Amino acid sequence: MKTISSLLDESWYARYKRISRLNIRSSIYDVTNRCNLRCKGCFFFSSGEHEAAKEENDISAWDNFIDSEMDRGVNLAILIGGEPTLCLDRIESFYKKLPTFCATNGQIKVPRDRFPDMMVGISLWGDEKDESILRGKDTFAVSSKNYEGDKYTYYLYTITPPQLGKIETVIKKIRDVGLRVHMQLLSNDEGVDGFTWTEAELAAVRDEMDDVLDKYPDTVVSSKYYHEVITTGKMLDRSFGWLECPSVTEPLDKRNPGPKRLIRFIRWASDLKTMHRCCTSETRDCTTCKDGAAHMSWVMVNKRAHMRTTEDFQKWIEVYEMFAKLYQFIPW
Ligand code: SF4
Ligand code: SF4
Repeated sequence: MKTISSLLDESWYARYKRISRLNIRSSIYDVTNRCNLRCKGCFFFSSGEHEAAKEENDISAWDNFIDSEMDRGVNLAILIGGEPTLCLDRIESFYKKLPTFCATNGQIKVPRDRFPDMMVGISLWGDEKDESILRGKDTFAVSSKNYEGDKYTYYLYTITPPQLGKIETVIKKIRDVGLRVHMQLLSNDEGVDGFTWTEAELAAVRDEMDDVLDKYPDTVVSSKYYHEVITTGKMLDRSFGWLECPSVTEPLDKRNPGPKRLIRFIRWASDLKTMHRCCTSETRDCTTCKDGAAHMSWVMVNKRAHMRTTEDFQKWIEVYEMFAKLYQFIPW
């Protein structure tokens, strides 16, 4: 086993030290079962997770639950849904106590007087045409007005096969409203025609993602290694899938032998009792899962495996830095 100091020069070692202190323990919370959109391919609705549990409506139950989550060691709350901004009081319960990230479709503005520095990630599924097909409207027209220039907000751009050749246009639109963007790939959970990836399309999208990262480094929050891993499903000599996935709810994880995984990770339903299998769809086929956070975490939890060469370990650091920036544990 090589040592970290033998792998890194002074400047890379400083970057490593900055992230090695973080010790992030995240969990994911369904804030509500409702949404003001119904996107084709939404894993939450397509897998019936919106019916898995009845929403807890008593705000004091949320407060008590968050206390018990903190006792469990959680130090990053990732709020999803449904659409969390339909329940600002529940968001506030988290935000008062924990570093909080709110995933939203951006159609309702999070009031910044109430949540001055909460991280917000706005979902975007393509240009006007593809957003209309998949989400029933051009969500960017509304979300970009709500969040223009907001320094605690970025777009989470889910790229679909029809976006090939158009990614740069979308990135420029985001840059022009003064926001940043992180990219991931659609897993076509509802089998929408023309939205399932082929190998050739995955190779092409990797090139496009690399290209926009080179051209717009102040707008795109990413790393080329992340692009490689998410488009090939390969990390070092291993393949992504159920046996490797780090983002499985810990108490439900009966894999034996267990892989490297997110410690204490749970994805909670909105009754605050039910647990979902993983960070994404209960019914999704792991062999075609393209979830960006799961792939990113896969790299992050496998630090030692990347300590075989300087290049591999630097790529690991870049992915970790990307994650830390997305949740503002380190500055952009
Ligand atoms: S906005 Fe998000 S939660 Fe709502 S339907 Fe679309 S993908 Fe699902
Ligand atoms: S669907 Fe994706 S995130 Fe969920 S367990 Fe399978 S590989 Fe992991």
